[in-house]
Amino acid sequence: MKAIIFGAPGAGKGTYSTRLKTKLGVEVIAMGDIFRTQVKENSELGKKVQSYVEKGALVPDEIVVEVLKQHLAKVPNGSGVILDGFPRTLEQAKTLETILQLDIIILLDVPDWIIIERLSSRRICKNCSAVYNTRFLKPKIENICDKCHGELYQRPDDNPDVIQNRLKIYQDQTSPLLIYYKEKNVPIITSKTTDIDTPPEPLVEQMFEELKKLKIVN
Ligand code: ADP
Ligand code: ZN
Repeated sequence: MKAIIFGAPGAGKGTYSTRLKTKLGVEVIAMGDIFRTQVKENSELGKKVQSYVEKGALVPDEIVVEVLKQHLAKVPNGSGVILDGFPRTLEQAKTLETILQLDIIILLDVPDWIIIERLSSRRICKNCSAVYNTRFLKPKIENICDKCHGELYQRPDDNPDVIQNRLKIYQDQTSPLLIYYKEKNVPIITSKTTDIDTPPEPLVEQMFEELKKLKIVN
């Protein structure tokens, strides 16, 4: 399976892709996680992307594409892969076409009010990037990751001004990609969230059933 998970910031791309990874044994390449790790390590790449990531601006396509290629090269042959946070621009989508053939787009359809609620109460594990929420997806122990016992933190770009910026960029530059993929007849499965307190698991099951129906997984 070669998939992209697609949706606004806060739609749950990270949450669902990590659950699908466990369930399907596929690799996930999460652009935002990669950049945050590099920024934390203050690497050459980290220094280049830090100002963009903090402002919620898009990292230039050349850099993102290069990073994607490096990570795809590490995916074992024959292994499925889910791209989280790529592509985000038409340029990136066109480049992706020259690199791999997409089987499916997993679209997360989430109303704006839920997105804003979620982003402002989101917490991330410093150690393994698992996603929690202080209101709707609480860790078992406050501020501690269930999986690795790492400390949770709030992303600097999850503050109201930067959230607005990210949502606008999604509207203007990323959401048009859906039309592009529809025109290319890439199959899309849509997962619709209507309640803020719905846990991820039932939606993951639905996605799995749809992927089976389309014979994308066994
Ligand atoms: P979100 O929760 O907004 O979907 P991510 O964790 O996927 O955020 O990405 C965080 C930041 O990393 C983005 O705001 C952007 O600065 C940068 N980034 C991630 N993916 C891309 C991409 N494909 N193109 C450009 N910038 C990106
Ligand atoms: Zn963790």
